[in-house]
Amino acid sequence: GRARADAGVTLFDPEMEEAVGRRHVLERELRHAVEREELRLLYQPKIDLGTGCVIGMEALVRWQHPELGLVSPAQFIPVAEETGVIVAIGDWVLREACRQARVWHDAGHKELVVAVNVSGRQFRVHDLTDRIRAALADAGLPPQALEVEITETAVMGDVSDAVRMLNEWHDMGVSVAIDDFGTGYSSLGYLRQLPLTTLKIDQSFVRDLPEGDTDRAVARTILQLAEVLDLKVVAEGIETPAHVDVLKGLGCHLGQGYHYARPLPPADFLAFLEAHTVE
Ligand code: C2E
Ligand code: CA
Ligand code: CA
Ligand code: CA
Repeated sequence: GRARADAGVTLFDPEMEEAVGRRHVLERELRHAVEREELRLLYQPKIDLGTGCVIGMEALVRWQHPELGLVSPAQFIPVAEETGVIVAIGDWVLREACRQARVWHDAGHKELVVAVNVSGRQFRVHDLTDRIRAALADAGLPPQALEVEITETAVMGDVSDAVRMLNEWHDMGVSVAIDDFGTGYSSLGYLRQLPLTTLKIDQSFVRDLPEGDTDRAVARTILQLAEVLDLKVVAEGIETPAHVDVLKGLGCHLGQGYHYARPLPPADFLAFLEAHTVE
């Protein structure tokens, strides 16, 4: 640092200054990202592990800024959450994912379900149900072709509110997945109250599955729980054939990960799809 306060606190740490500066730039630039059309979606195939066929895709947002370059969602989603810009970004993501899914439905892939991530702050916006309904209607996409991924943390923020919203989506025909399952507050009581479709095993439990006894026990527990609750299970972060073998051995039938495909631009997703579809 260049200067120090009496208490010995570093006031002008160049590194910190840089971090604060970057954060400030991100915040400012993010406000215009939607209108300047700097966001785009990639689609990661979700796979039936038994057949290798594509059952759907997760939409993952990317921000391509002219000067900052490609900014990862891990960097800008937290900023968008804190500033509230997540509402506009989330709305764009929802609409674009539905529009794109409709295009692929029209191309003959009516089985595809598109999954959209909804973060905590976005979840607490009271008219999210209306926004979902509008996005589906404008795209002409059936609600059954949409799945919303939310984290345990978002749900636990206000369980009664979550129950109300998820019931609205369920009544509409939209599926709900709990993302990163096992990493949040694991209160199993709330699970029974929610009209869920899917649990997603977090990639942190999948990574060491072939060697790790504990991770295998966690995965097994999630699968047993899902069976009791009659939920589907999707494993995230499948990177190797060994991951596939262990998961199939445990009775997990669905997954996604680099072993099959990275998140892909729309044209590449379509090519992958046509190579991995049963006639
Ligand atoms: P997530 O929802 O858990 O998404 C999975 C992340 O794991 C994605 O990172 C994906 O690219 C990555 N991934 C997929 N397969 C593998 C694999 O085999 N190995 C490894 N190591 N990683 C894999 P990404 O795209 O950088 O997104 C990071 C997080 O940002 C997401 O985590 C999600 O929480 C958030 N996010 C992404 N898109 C959106 C969005 O449109 N809206 C909101 N609210 N959040 C989003
Ligand atoms: Ca997700
Ligand atoms: Ca996840
Ligand atoms: Ca994650």
